[in-house]
Amino acid sequence: MATFSPKQNNLTQPLRTFKAEKPHLKIFPLGGNGEIGKNMVVYEYGDDIIIVDCGMMFPTVEMLGIDFVIPNFTYLEEHKEKIRGIIFTHGHEDHTGGIPFIWPKIQCPIYATKLTAGFIEYKMNEFELKPPIKVVQAGDKIQLGVFKIEFIPFSHTFLDDVGLAIDTPDGLVIHIADFAIDPSKLESQQLLGKLNTFAQRGVKVLLLESTNVEIKSDRLAESVVYDTIASIFQKAKGRLIVSSFASSLDRIQGVLNAAQKTHRKVAISGRSMDKTINIAMNLGYLKVPHGILVDLRRTDNIPENKLAILCTGSQGEEYSALVRMAAGEHKQIRIKKGDTVVISAGAIPGNERTVADTVNNLFRLGAYVYYGSERQKVHSSGHAKRAELKLVTATIKPEYFIPIHGEFRHLVLHAQLAQELGIPEDHAFVIDDGQVVEILEGGKARIAPQKVDASYVLVDGLGVGDVGNIVLRDRQAMAKDGIFVVILTVDHETGKIITSPDIISRGFIYMREREDLVFKARQEVKKMFQKHNEKYPANWDFIKKAMRQELGEFLFKETERRPMVIPVIIEV
Ligand SMILES: [Zn+2]
Ligand SMILES: [Zn+2]
Repeated sequence: MATFSPKQNNLTQPLRTFKAEKPHLKIFPLGGNGEIGKNMVVYEYGDDIIIVDCGMMFPTVEMLGIDFVIPNFTYLEEHKEKIRGIIFTHGHEDHTGGIPFIWPKIQCPIYATKLTAGFIEYKMNEFELKPPIKVVQAGDKIQLGVFKIEFIPFSHTFLDDVGLAIDTPDGLVIHIADFAIDPSKLESQQLLGKLNTFAQRGVKVLLLESTNVEIKSDRLAESVVYDTIASIFQKAKGRLIVSSFASSLDRIQGVLNAAQKTHRKVAISGRSMDKTINIAMNLGYLKVPHGILVDLRRTDNIPENKLAILCTGSQGEEYSALVRMAAGEHKQIRIKKGDTVVISAGAIPGNERTVADTVNNLFRLGAYVYYGSERQKVHSSGHAKRAELKLVTATIKPEYFIPIHGEFRHLVLHAQLAQELGIPEDHAFVIDDGQVVEILEGGKARIAPQKVDASYVLVDGLGVGDVGNIVLRDRQAMAKDGIFVVILTVDHETGKIITSPDIISRGFIYMREREDLVFKARQEVKKMFQKHNEKYPANWDFIKKAMRQELGEFLFKETERRPMVIPVIIEV
């Protein structure tokens, strides 16, 4: 198993504060540069800081037991008096998931469009937080300290998505997080016209998402996806089960429309799907045909060809509705022959295996599954592909370019793409989280020599940042080779072992089949204890440490495994 080594974890002296200097623009990502997820970019000028997005990321396989990862907020906490606000581009978790944990530390106003604000408010309420949220809309302009910000409408799988034009004393910066340019949508032309007006004013720096920079295929129009889903609805003779991202409201609208056309009722399964549809309905972002929604528990008397189920689980998430159906563990739904399942979402990198397992299980239970994403035209990515990225950069013609939202290779490829468009190599900055791009006097930009601490903050249950490398290493050792506990009962007066040492082991060996080893280990333990106790009588800390070491070596010699060894000494 790989060891846990987050980027820059060995950062010896993270930057606490920039030296007293003439104010100038500094831009640094605290998340999303070097990984897919936990997006956050900070803009600082003199005494003013604004933050764009505050996401979370799913843990990597070696982060055992960790729920998710959020951006490092040390720098922000230490400069919270400078923070004028946090602005959200849209409501996806990789842009908003960190806010309930970070907002209490920085307590600044929040700016978001209506739907995004609705999601954030709901999320904050779950944590009993009531931050000031200011609702903005595309086209609005606000001033936060020296920064003048204009909201630019973009298309994405989350409705109400915006990019930002940020006027700073050092020039105009354009920040575009998740977006797509769908040729089937009228807004696309208007958008390019708008971007062109910024280009004419002169754009100093462009920050642009990089998720799909490797993908060269053409954009699949969302309208084609609707048509495919509609025709699946027409053809299906039994129940229909559609799984998608709850927040892909365009897609969910498409499913509701297809259901209405084919006279199917729609039942919802999954908490996040339920929650999202409610928020979106209340805010007017979803048009739900009257009487179409039914309670999943009251679907018994609806004919199967008149029922569709909209559910969570498109990523194969543990405990999600679709995964429970696939495992035969769903309370109401038993998958059977005649069911049609549509997975209308792409797998987020890292989730491919769990999605494939879910699909296999559904087929095994007799369902027919459409899971091919773009290949089967049941999903279109919400992220701009190479050609769209190229179009945007070519339109904006920035002086400097910073790729954001991508693993390291995505950032490198995206910087190369910018170079193909005529941006010089030393004007396209590939930076990791915590690296700072600054504008020097005279207007030249460079990567600053100092970095800001951007090491991972792990969230485990209710604990934020209290699980560090040591806890993780222990979890990895236990997961890999198990645990071996030795309990010694020692006479308080004489310092002698009273009973034979107790041995408890889990995940290491099956003790009943290895009684020989357990017996030998007991003998070794006694010898070790006597040896050390003669030299350092009753120095339990020392003795335990020495025994942990020696017993570990003994077990390795016998089994070539390294369980976590825990000696316990009880005085009676
Ligand atoms: Zn998004
Ligand atoms: Zn995103």
